[in-house]
Amino acid sequence: MSAVDLHLHSTASDGACSPSEVVQRAILAGLSAIALTDHDTIGGLPEAVAAAAGDALRVVSGCEFSAAAGWGEVHLLGYFLPLSDANLLAFLARQQEKRLARGASMVDRLNRLGVDMSLGEIIAEADGGVIGRPHVARVLVKTGVVKDVQMAFRRYLGLGRPAYIPRDLPLLSEVAALVRDVGGVTSAAHLKRMALDSAVLDQLVEAGVDAVEVIHPSHDGRAFGAMERAARRVGLSVTGGSDWHGGPDTTESRTGPGYLDVPIEWLDEIELRHRERSTVEPAVPGRR
Ligand code: AMP
Ligand code: MN
Ligand code: MN
Ligand code: MN
Repeated sequence: MSAVDLHLHSTASDGACSPSEVVQRAILAGLSAIALTDHDTIGGLPEAVAAAAGDALRVVSGCEFSAAAGWGEVHLLGYFLPLSDANLLAFLARQQEKRLARGASMVDRLNRLGVDMSLGEIIAEADGGVIGRPHVARVLVKTGVVKDVQMAFRRYLGLGRPAYIPRDLPLLSEVAALVRDVGGVTSAAHLKRMALDSAVLDQLVEAGVDAVEVIHPSHDGRAFGAMERAARRVGLSVTGGSDWHGGPDTTESRTGPGYLDVPIEWLDEIELRHRERSTVEPAVPGRR
């Protein structure tokens, strides 16, 4: 089998498995390559790379960025990221600070709603990982406020619910340029029906995005072909992944790395974009 999985989370953000556990699962699944794409961090990569050393599994350095597009929040997967670029690390540190501040606002909001919770509990739950709503949800479950993570989102944390705090997001074009400037490649994640909307695809091209995530658990398998054709029509490449979070407690969790069978040729294609970028268009330090 020559399949890859280009969208996976670990405890470096809101996943339940450590980076090495994710790698072990990918090896067991017989995958040729994975990309670890934690939210707003590349901090899990050294451990993942070390865990794959000596095995045939290849680990691509990735990250799932959140950005503001014309139509709302978009998640942008970045691939082939250098692990010690100062600009990229400074950008990620800012996003992580904003996530911590948002965590504090969520706690405030919950306290005012009569829920007893402290920011310290959220930080402890994240255990060094980048903070996200799933950590708040898990604390709500552990303290018996709700029965499961789904209910935490439905009652408190989901869009439009009383403890929902919007994020201050960087522009899509800004994130795409940042990744490009370090030689990386971007793919717009889980666009659902918007992946077939030519106005949306045109905006992605305009913003400098490279690809669209076609294979994703939230997408109807019968639409994969149409999504790929729509992306290619405007010159975008395609990617796919399981968005596995390692546990039964998020909507995106399914059965493990690789269960969606993403062709290795898709990885080859975005790698070609990366190689052309790193040799023909060297990164310009400090450019935005
Ligand atoms: P955040 O990045 O802090 O906005 O949190 C978003 C994350 O929460 C997503 O990446 C998912 O892992 C998880 N998530 C989003 N919506 C739900 C939901 N309805 N139920 C469970 N998990 C969710
Ligand atoms: Mn997540
Ligand atoms: Mn996402
Ligand atoms: Mn994800």
